Amino acid sequence: MRNKLVAGNWKMHGSLTVNAGLLEGVRAGVAGLSADVAVCVPYPYLDQAETGLTGSNVAWGAQDVSEHALGAYTGEVSAAMLLDFGCRYVIVGHSERRSYYGDTDAIVAAKFEAALKVGLVPIFCVGETLDEREKSITAEVVTRQLDAVIERCGVAALAGAVIAYEPVWAIGTGRTATPEQAQEVHALIRQRVAQDDSGIAAGVRILYGGSMKPANARELMAQPDIDGGLIGGAALVAADFIAICAAA
Ligand code: PEP
Repeated sequence: MRNKLVAGNWKMHGSLTVNAGLLEGVRAGVAGLSADVAVCVPYPYLDQAETGLTGSNVAWGAQDVSEHALGAYTGEVSAAMLLDFGCRYVIVGHSERRSYYGDTDAIVAAKFEAALKVGLVPIFCVGETLDEREKSITAEVVTRQLDAVIERCGVAALAGAVIAYEPVWAIGTGRTATPEQAQEVHALIRQRVAQDDSGIAAGVRILYGGSMKPANARELMAQPDIDGGLIGGAALVAADFIAICAAA
């Protein structure tokens, strides 16, 4: 049985004042829930997340990581630095990183490897654009993205990771994949992993991300291969995020 995981992705939102209320609200609101819960915050707020969430059942993490361990890479943040702030998770391969910052499949695989190497749990995002869905190449795109990580790190690496299926056309658009659409791709992802290792496929958590909210969370997470959610917009409103965690 895979325990559900609900991870918030705050993206580039927040301030010390706003975060204080949100962290406190989430901390109190999810206490006692059985789902695993995490928030992925902007780098400058990792210290605040660590202070605000230590001792709670909410883990925290970052939204990206450098593929390099250290050196002359101005502006980058290494996996070891994230560990210094108590992070458990880091998102790699978010579609916004892929489309605006040039994160190719190869770079994403290198970031995945860098995170895993220090003991962070990568939340590895895959997903097709609207154009790709309309061309009926969703399976091809998602398989290519998965294969880049499996080829570089080996399928066993997925035992220490979480996969997030995020159809790009559903992120921040208010347009959610139907439970059936999402389940179809989640099953495909699990089958691809099972081709190499059925045990790892059975255990790996596959989250759905893309306009998940209290109104649709329960139905999405009731699908057999949907093991939780990666939540953007709704993670910024404590009551909504807590309601999704409760649904999980
Ligand atoms: C995301 O940013 O990963 C995401 C799923 O955003 P939203 O929930 O706002 O669609």
